[in-house]
Amino acid sequence: MKWQGRTRSRNVEDRRGSGGGGRKTPGIIGIIVLLVGAYYGVDLSGVVGTPSLGPTSAQQSSLNPQLESQLEELSHVVLADTEAAWKDYFGKHGQSYTPTTLVLYTGGTQTACGMGQAAMGPFYCPGDKKVYLDLSFYEDMRTKLGAAGDAAFAYVIAHEVGHHVQNLLGILPQVHQAQQSVGKTQANALSVKLELQADCFAGIWGHYAVNQQIFEAGDIEKAMNAAASVGDDRLQQQAQGYAVPDSFTHGSSADRMKWLKRGLEGGDINQCNTFDAG
Ligand SMILES: [Zn+2]
Repeated sequence: MKWQGRTRSRNVEDRRGSGGGGRKTPGIIGIIVLLVGAYYGVDLSGVVGTPSLGPTSAQQSSLNPQLESQLEELSHVVLADTEAAWKDYFGKHGQSYTPTTLVLYTGGTQTACGMGQAAMGPFYCPGDKKVYLDLSFYEDMRTKLGAAGDAAFAYVIAHEVGHHVQNLLGILPQVHQAQQSVGKTQANALSVKLELQADCFAGIWGHYAVNQQIFEAGDIEKAMNAAASVGDDRLQQQAQGYAVPDSFTHGSSADRMKWLKRGLEGGDINQCNTFDAG
């Protein structure tokens, strides 16, 4: 991907090293949030579902400073690209796009959705309309998920921005509401539809990146591989040796690739209706 020296978004809030939790084990609030999320099937709209990836890099060691500064720049530039892509899209449909804020933090931080923990992976909080990202997630992607490369990390950011777009369009609150009145299996199924749509929305950013010639050879494959790497079946296989489809909250590797590809190729939100797709 071409990202070095390009326009950076101004909508980044840098809380790294500001002591908002630091590299500590999850506090009681964090644990409650995780449990509540697991019970209701609402997982703060992260990129990965259960089971978690285990101890994260954030809790083990810090990123090498050179890599961290590259990831920081990449995040600023990818966020700017999502802003350009969605501004363009909303504009064409007579609406204006209100960008999300990307919060960079280390270990843990306060959010309107409770205590954010790096162990949860990147996530979007609808309460404050912010995306939360601990840059060390990149190390987890590379070492635990086998999804390395700038386009893989960019996909994760674009997926979270996808949840913000769902929030702006009123889809997120509607689905969260619906999840309260159904059983666990149905709530999980709704969560999968939400997540696959966020993947399709990430694809709309990808479509823009292709058109702007930001992507280089192999980047689409890296993004697709990243989507496959966070499929529930693959994560469950890795963690417990078998997959339980009823417990999926984010979709299988095949479905995540399918919807990302749909957004990438069509660049059209109307092709991202996962709720009508059965
Ligand atoms: Zn998500």
